[in-house]
Amino acid sequence: MTPLSELAQGQQYPTAALYVVATPIGNVADITLRALHVLGLVDRIAAEDTRNTGQLLSRYGISKPLLAVHQHNERAAALRIVEHLQAGERVAYVSDAGTPGISDPGAILVDAVREAGFPVIPLPGASALATALSAAGNWVATFSFLGFLPPKSKQRASTLQPLATHPHAMVFYEAPHRIVETVQALADAFGGARRLLIARELTKLHEAVHCGTLAEGPTWLAADPNRQRGEFVLVVEGAPQETAGEHDHDALLEILLEELTVSSAAKVAASITGASRNALYTRALALKKE
Ligand code: SAM
Repeated sequence: MTPLSELAQGQQYPTAALYVVATPIGNVADITLRALHVLGLVDRIAAEDTRNTGQLLSRYGISKPLLAVHQHNERAAALRIVEHLQAGERVAYVSDAGTPGISDPGAILVDAVREAGFPVIPLPGASALATALSAAGNWVATFSFLGFLPPKSKQRASTLQPLATHPHAMVFYEAPHRIVETVQALADAFGGARRLLIARELTKLHEAVHCGTLAEGPTWLAADPNRQRGEFVLVVEGAPQETAGEHDHDALLEILLEELTVSSAAKVAASITGASRNALYTRALALKKE
């Protein structure tokens, strides 16, 4: 078998550099050979959670000085890391799970290190974002990553409203205690007809990847309370070309507005067409004023 150090060759590992290293999102075996090589090579490892990272490192027989860099101390800790780089050290940064900087600390550190004139070297690996997308299908050929939605329902709705006509698939992260209300909020904002991928507990024992529609998302989650546990990635189909045009349902809305309020007309039109109730409401309001 080829030794690790040889497999990880093909690139220099300069001193006085920051190595941004992706770690597993669940299954501990999802770490790359290069990540192990570099973690074994660096002088110091900065970590979002030193206890977690210590456990991961001990699984692979790596022991290094650890330094905590999390969302509450990232700016101050970045200055300390720059000092270590000035002393000629190689420093690695790992977040709790997955790729640093993706809904995780790391970006402020990267800015500070680059501003101080030191190289930032990324080591690719696991991310819940890429893992979920890889199991979605052709409808996510183009996508936007939105991360976590605001926890309060009003802010969440106003974040989603302008996205109703967004033409690309949208990827969201969500925690278990908000998964049901978030899926419902997505269905309210975008209509029930669009595809929804629910990727739960990726790479772990209770992994589930369910591909359905926004309308049946809440039912799928409610069918078994276990489906609401764990970590989630949600991928929602972008606005279909034919409904992305704001005038496409004018004829239907005009008929409904003869008998109904703007809000009821938008609601009925949404259930007939599967288009976003928010988008139809905005259009019905404009038609009413014309
Ligand atoms: N940096 C990480 C990455 O590269 O994916 C993301 C960290 S963020 C703080 C944690 C969120 O990522 C979770 O709440 C969940 O939405 C998503 N996530 C992380 N691990 C996951 C997994 N194994 N399965 C599904 N979603 C996951």
